[in-house]
Amino acid sequence: MPLEISAKTILNKKKKPDEWFLDDYTLNPYSGCSFNCLYCYIRGSKYGIHMEEKLAVKTNAAELLEKQLRNLAKKNKYGVIVLASATDPYLQIEKEMGLTRRLLEVILKYRFPLHVITKSDLVMRDFDLLHKIDESAILPPNLQGKTKRGLFITFSFSTLDDKVAKIFEPGATPPSVRLQILEQTSTAGFHCGVSMMPVLPFISDTEEQMDNMLTAFSKAGAKYVFPASLTLFGEGPADSKTLMFRAVEKHYPDLYERYKKLFPGDFRAAGYYQAELSAKTNRLLKKHGIKNRIV
Ligand code: SF4
Repeated sequence: MPLEISAKTILNKKKKPDEWFLDDYTLNPYSGCSFNCLYCYIRGSKYGIHMEEKLAVKTNAAELLEKQLRNLAKKNKYGVIVLASATDPYLQIEKEMGLTRRLLEVILKYRFPLHVITKSDLVMRDFDLLHKIDESAILPPNLQGKTKRGLFITFSFSTLDDKVAKIFEPGATPPSVRLQILEQTSTAGFHCGVSMMPVLPFISDTEEQMDNMLTAFSKAGAKYVFPASLTLFGEGPADSKTLMFRAVEKHYPDLYERYKKLFPGDFRAAGYYQAELSAKTNRLLKKHGIKNRIV
């Protein structure tokens, strides 16, 4: 059984929403993430190497959300809620817990717009509620006139290769399945797209691979794609830099030195790499006619 915790607050207000994610508010039903991506920015000693062991359910999440959204709606402080920013809202455990589904019911009741970010096929279970949120959400002033949609669904990919994904994001739904779910999400009429965060240096970032990925995303109905470079933090045993370097050394020994040079100290990749990646992604997005923003 997972750990159970009682959260003090459930909805976090962002000072300045990100241009990609449009996150006025963030909402995380679980603490930690059993998808266990090695590159995950939440990694560190708090969650350990095997994050599923420390996964915790915020048992009072729906009650807290009800209280917070009721207050915000009264003050007319509508804004996009990002579900989720520090876990996946559709972990395996969600099948039994139904916690994300209960949160969606509250979001629908108070008519807040929503941006779901996931690597999971389980999102399809909630298409009924997600359609209703899409139709009834009240948009904040900064989005009025730019879109009529009240819901966005973004699928995260770092690769389209299931074997590569098994190394770097071992607990997540395989990308081949994720791609099918993206297509079904688009066919169901949702405004959906892709977060390529991160693209894996020298593994999934060649011009040809990214071109193939964008072809697949476009074919599956993605309306937007936002690609970004890998970031790696920390030197501790459970930190993303340690885990990624170890995995590269084991599975891609030829790339190990290149990775070390790419991340000499900073959490960001070297400037030349970021500039090349940015030029490449802009070129390819233009070629495929895909936007790099939701609105
Ligand atoms: S799915 Fe997202 S939150 Fe979960 S481990 Fe992967 S990157 Fe982190």
